[in-house]
Amino acid sequence: MQVYIDGKFFPQSKANISVYDHGFLYGDGVFEGIRIYNDNIFMLDEHINRLYDSAKAIGLKVPLSKAEIKDAVKQAHKVNGLKSGYVRLIVTRGVGNLGIDPKKCPKPSIVIIVNKIALYPVALYKKGMEIITASTQRTPVSALNPQIKSMNYLNNILAKIEAVNAGANEALMLDSSGNVVECSGDNIFIYRNDTLITPTTSIGALDGITRGIVMKLAEQEGLSVKELIFSKYEVYTSDECFLTGTAAELIPVVKVDGREIGNGKPGKITGLLINKFRKFIELL
Ligand code: PMP
Repeated sequence: MQVYIDGKFFPQSKANISVYDHGFLYGDGVFEGIRIYNDNIFMLDEHINRLYDSAKAIGLKVPLSKAEIKDAVKQAHKVNGLKSGYVRLIVTRGVGNLGIDPKKCPKPSIVIIVNKIALYPVALYKKGMEIITASTQRTPVSALNPQIKSMNYLNNILAKIEAVNAGANEALMLDSSGNVVECSGDNIFIYRNDTLITPTTSIGALDGITRGIVMKLAEQEGLSVKELIFSKYEVYTSDECFLTGTAAELIPVVKVDGREIGNGKPGKITGLLINKFRKFIELL
């Protein structure tokens, strides 16, 4: 695979970044994970907009215009010739010194990696997954708003370690008041009292691109859709639960902390939305 770094392409084995890059030293940068479906880059505008918002929030000026960065992503897709796959777009603070001062980093680095995508096992989409609640709380909005898709994923990684240690696939993350925020790498939805509910972004849930599509598709189906603040109790007592993400798409959840969700099988509304999502992708 050919990797884009600051306007040039390098074979993967030669695609190197300086160890003085603050992305490497401090996780100082932002990124996006984007899907390629049917030789098309999926929801590119939305991802680029979110990238620029993340960059703005950390005071990082992306050295290319939105149109230029879109062109670079398209070029990286073309050069690598993958009809389906994944694009990782990264903008770091750039090369500086060993201190944290971003002013010492005159030029942000832009990296675009295109590759195949690692998915959850297919069987999980049929039988649904089991998740646990992590004891690691989601980073508070007041500390580092998780809506910023930053290169610092340690908070998520600590939760993912808890999931893996418990033999689960994903970890549900709560805020300091016990409100459900999201999972370590996915947004969460519950279906309860005939309403599709997802945590509001104001408590730190990522404004997921897949989350946005699912909310629109559900509304088109005439479902009542709400962004709310709720606790684990509402998850345990929901009729259905599923996760959304660029890599995961929509995946049913059938057990949370050992409690069966609904009848312990992927729910009807979840199945309907999975089908609608697949059709939406095919139409593009
Ligand atoms: N939450 C977190 C923490 C994520 O990292 C992601 C992306 N993997 C999501 C939610 C889902 O967002 P999207 O649908 O934009 O991929």
